[in-house]
Amino acid sequence: MQPRHLRVFVDLDRVRTNALSISRLVNGDIIAVVKTDAYGLGARRVAKTIGDLVAGFCVFSLDEAAALWKIAQKPILVLGPTADVEPDELTALHARPAVWTLSEADRLKSARPILCMDTGMRRFACPAENVEAVLKAGDIDEAFTHATKLEHAKMLASALGGRGLRLHAAASALLNEPDCRLDAVRPGMALYRGAVRVATRLVEVRNGGCTTGYTGFIAERFGIILCGYSQGLRRGPCLVGGVRRSILEVGMQSAFVEIGPGDNLGDEVVLLGDSLRELDVAEAWGASEQQVLLVMANMGPRTNEAS
Ligand SMILES: *Cc1c(COP(=O)(O)O)cnc(C)c1O
Repeated sequence: MQPRHLRVFVDLDRVRTNALSISRLVNGDIIAVVKTDAYGLGARRVAKTIGDLVAGFCVFSLDEAAALWKIAQKPILVLGPTADVEPDELTALHARPAVWTLSEADRLKSARPILCMDTGMRRFACPAENVEAVLKAGDIDEAFTHATKLEHAKMLASALGGRGLRLHAAASALLNEPDCRLDAVRPGMALYRGAVRVATRLVEVRNGGCTTGYTGFIAERFGIILCGYSQGLRRGPCLVGGVRRSILEVGMQSAFVEIGPGDNLGDEVVLLGDSLRELDVAEAWGASEQQVLLVMANMGPRTNEAS
């Protein structure tokens, strides 16, 4: 069960502001990546919030496309494998499949497939030597690559540029590279950064000074929050009374938090948001910002109201 005292606040205004900044930065289209329920923020509410600013949406599997067209009337690109899907199911949802094999390009031709070219990811993508055959088999007018470096975008552009295909390569990490922007960009994280705030409260407060917890750590003063590794929490930074503190030890459903002399029972502990960015937590976890956001956004019931 998800704890009630833990609040996940989704700031949709921030998502819209992020989308507006991206559209000012790039000249081409934004294809908003809303896979995995928009990284935990809620794909439908995100689609409602930025539908007018984007040219389309990306999902991973067709089931994620279901409600999107009704909300924003923008085309949907299905990034993952669609071997179990019929072309009619795609067109019914205004979804177009990414393809990387000749047989899938041919089979899904009527759903207007989009080529995914391999430029280094080596997953769900077409090797350069097969690109021409796949383009032809699917009568394809759009191609992309899952680029993680500038050179990947350049490989796509040099292989397929100048022949009327719509091309895209950049996810969030490459938005600042003008050469990666091509005809469209596919940001996920850059839309959601700063939009989720996760907060809970101190349910116990103790003076320390002696060995504590499972690991026998010693802290001058600590508090307990009702959030643990069953919710995905790990050791890392948090904010107590606006001050940067540490999560000292994480149990299954609770965690020990370092606090100061002025912090008391019931005080708010922020796990993400305010001055604590996804990147700060990601560095402590040794994880990506996307991983942090996904875990945090799913820690408790989501609300659009600031508490
Ligand atoms: C997830 C994904 C993106 C978005 O990635 P971010 O780094 O979150 O912007 C873009 N393109 C593809 C193919 C993806 O799978």
